[in-house]
Amino acid sequence: MQVVAHCPTCDAGLPVSAAEAPESIACGGCGQVMPLAFSDALRTDAQVDACPVCRGAEFYIRKDFNPQVGLTVVIIGALISGVFYWFDEDLIAYSILGGAALIDLIVYGRLGDVTVCYRCHSEFRGKFRRTASHFDLHTADVLEQEYERRIGRR
Ligand SMILES: [Zn+2]
Ligand SMILES: [Zn+2]
Repeated sequence: MQVVAHCPTCDAGLPVSAAEAPESIACGGCGQVMPLAFSDALRTDAQVDACPVCRGAEFYIRKDFNPQVGLTVVIIGALISGVFYWFDEDLIAYSILGGAALIDLIVYGRLGDVTVCYRCHSEFRGKFRRTASHFDLHTADVLEQEYERRIGRR
């Protein structure tokens, strides 16, 4: 399982391998050292049961979508179809535009889920069983505030 911990001070994303289960990680952005606690389930990629950063046990699932990739495909498609459009090949132009949109859909559909910690926004990627449910705004509000008070942001 691959974990991206978020620094409570500067919000930098820090990749950590759960299999190696380091006891702490130093932030590359601001130098803050965060203690980490990996459960056995995390280490063996079985399940996300406790957050190694904030010890929270509430998580949600979202699509692991990289908007930059999607945008690049659409822009390249638009550029190529623009050339055909210029030469009055409307049909080809529209097909290419449609093709780019289709590729986008396929890429989006094939992406896996990422599990995210409600409190500290750590991300978990791996083959583990998905036990978290979808994002709930109310839960997020309550837990984020609790966490931010704890780390002294509010
Ligand atoms: Zn930092
Ligand atoms: Zn957390």
